[in-house]
Order: sequence, then structure tokens, then C-alpha cells
Amino acid sequence: MTGVPGLIIRQYGDPVLKEMTREVVDIDAAVVALAESMIETMYEAPGSGLAANQVGVQRRIFVYDIGEGPRTVINPRIVETDGEWVYDEGCLSIPGLSWEIVRPNAVHLVGLDLEGNELSIEATELEGRVFQHELDHLDGILLVERLTADQRKEALGILRRRTLDLPAGDPDGLSRIFTR
Ligand code: ZN
Repeated sequence: MTGVPGLIIRQYGDPVLKEMTREVVDIDAAVVALAESMIETMYEAPGSGLAANQVGVQRRIFVYDIGEGPRTVINPRIVETDGEWVYDEGCLSIPGLSWEIVRPNAVHLVGLDLEGNELSIEATELEGRVFQHELDHLDGILLVERLTADQRKEALGILRRRTLDLPAGDPDGLSRIFTR
């Protein structure tokens, strides 16, 4: 791996996580280097998926590894979903918290790989969940927006208490306090 080191995972409260990402037009060397760095950052975290805007890049790219080696998907779209599956879901941008969330079980994902080849992946359970979670990130949607009313109330209470621990007058502290 020869990726550029030093990517920082943006944390809950960072506005970059709420912005829509843009399609990748050219899969050039910079995109390949970014994907390599994202994979390293995902393993260091560790996590099973990472979207480009989680490291501050507003492009439609995510990387994942569900135990079968690292993969990169560019300009992903979910074209079909089916069923329901409950999974205790967490997020590298909201460390230490997770919630049981119901989402479709099976998803059909299309996109491009790093060589520009078309991908068409039918996934269920963990792989399908990772796809849905990362697509949400690329659309500026965070896990807390997928919670039930009760889960959300509890989650926002915890996240609010975290922000109260911020030093006063530290405009950048919100992102720093959640970075280990
Ligand atoms: Zn996440």
C-alpha cells in the first residue's frame, strides 16, 4: 500500500458529513491514491466501510471490506432492495455508539471499480448493510437520521453531552473532541 497517510475521519458535528457528494468524472491517479489511503484509514480505525466525505472529500467513492479483502466502489447506486434485516449498526464518524436499525436485507448495487469497469453486486446482510450505510454518507445522511424516535432522543442526548464537554470558545473543538 502506497496511499498518502494522514487522512482524518471527520466526526459527528462536522458539516462536511451533511453535504451531498459529486460524481467522479475521471478515475485518475489521484482517485486511485485516495482509495488506497481510505482503505488504510478504514483498517486503522478499524471499520468495515468508509465514504470519501468521511475524510473530507466530496466525491462519490466508498471503500469496504467485509472479510473478503478491500474493495472500492465509484459512483455507486442502489437500484433495487428487498426484505428487511435488523443489525446493530455503528459509524466511524460517531465512535462508541451503535443502534439496532432495520433496513432492507438484499440490495443490488451498481457502480464502477478503480479500472472503470462496471460493477453489479447483489448483496445481503452485512455486505448489503455496508452498501446502504456508505450510500447514505455519500448523500449527506448520518446514522442518527435512521433511528426511531426513541433511539434518536437518546442518541442526541448523548451527543449533546459530548459537545458540552467542549472547551468554551473553541470553534473547532467539535470535530477535535471526537477524534482520538
Ligand atoms: Zn458511517
